[in-house]
Amino acid sequence: MTTYATMTIDELESLRIALYQEYDAFVAKGLSLNMARGKPSVAQLELARPMLDVVNAQTDVSAYTAVDVFNYGALDGIPEAKQLMASIMEVPSEDVIVMGNSSLNIMYDTIARAMTHGILGSTPWSKLEAVKFLCPIPGYDRHFAICEHFGIEMINVPMHDDGPDMDMIERLVAADDSIKGIWCVPKYANPTGICYSDDVIMRMGALTPAASDFRIFWDNAYAVHHLDSAHPVAVMSIREACKAAGHEDLWYMFASTSKVSFAGGGIAVVASSAANIADIKKNMFFQTIGHDKINQLRHVVFFKNLDGINAHMTAHAAILAPKFEIVLEIFENNLASAGIGEWTSPRGGYFISFDGMPGTAKRIVSLAKAAGVTLTGAGATYPYGEDPEDRNIRIAPSYPPLDELAQACELFTLCVKIASVEKLLTSHSE
Ligand code: PLP
Repeated sequence: MTTYATMTIDELESLRIALYQEYDAFVAKGLSLNMARGKPSVAQLELARPMLDVVNAQTDVSAYTAVDVFNYGALDGIPEAKQLMASIMEVPSEDVIVMGNSSLNIMYDTIARAMTHGILGSTPWSKLEAVKFLCPIPGYDRHFAICEHFGIEMINVPMHDDGPDMDMIERLVAADDSIKGIWCVPKYANPTGICYSDDVIMRMGALTPAASDFRIFWDNAYAVHHLDSAHPVAVMSIREACKAAGHEDLWYMFASTSKVSFAGGGIAVVASSAANIADIKKNMFFQTIGHDKINQLRHVVFFKNLDGINAHMTAHAAILAPKFEIVLEIFENNLASAGIGEWTSPRGGYFISFDGMPGTAKRIVSLAKAAGVTLTGAGATYPYGEDPEDRNIRIAPSYPPLDELAQACELFTLCVKIASVEKLLTSHSE
């Protein structure tokens, strides 16, 4: 196939007619598919259902923990759950607080607390004229939504194959004390799937921000979510990188079992230095007398340890990997030679990041929607929902069954072709 960019106007026009016919045939099928969010599939969630039976009225709790999980107490979680989550996050368990069901909730609270009370005695962010966050792009829409909600100004930082642009980050944080944080998804990032290199992480830990209350928000959402469990990617510890640079308090790490056990029904954690953890606990005193320790116990009894988690995630991968493969195969077959898109091939996580020709993403998403396939909104992967080039689309292959996913991807690639031809014809006529 010749690339679209080298086609004549006549060739593009006849191609457009053929593509519209193909599209009409799709519309006639009356599809109703959703690839908007990275949700675990029914089959993945089924794997965790037996967890609902491991703690019941007959359970001898004392065989698992000395804590009375049915009563108040153990504000930072039962030690066994702290240990389990610490092993996922590769930090010591004393650095960990096990909270409720959602890591996003903890991230929100962390920012809310900084807004009202500052961090380790700093001026509350809400009292400052400006508060800014660095946002590697494309990134996770919910991180950006938290910032927008609190009126935190977001600064786009380009992503490379090994992590965000560290030259830019070093320069910005050193020069501007209103920059208070950076969002990072270091492993199998949402949406690119990239993993940060050792060099990037060492430089992160060695940052010298002008603001003493600058923090790295290290969202380790996909720590154990490998697509090929025989070849997991290892990512360097941000804790160790900060420690090596003498910046013990520079990091907060977040994680949950939302995509291990139950989405929104797992256990969520924050980890950080002793000083930051003490600061968080001081505030927690006013928030709660303790989170759900029965759910923590369920996770401990069901998974036992990191080996148990890894075995479970290998079973997840057996369901997820074929879905990623089919998306990549259809993209390769339908798009590669036309030269109208690029995409990532992640080794883990929940997403593939697609870049079309500039100025096509919104059109692709609306064409797909009109034919019955809901995608993540164009622009969602950027702060304020504004993709300056209108080209990035997050592909979320996890939820639909394989056959539906294949149909959705066939339609997606058709929409990419149509939007690209339309774009090229418009630019010819300008
Ligand atoms: N962080 C990232 C990077 C995610 O992709 C997601 C969900 O898609 C979350 C956090 C949400 O996690 P939780 O369910 O623990 O709030």
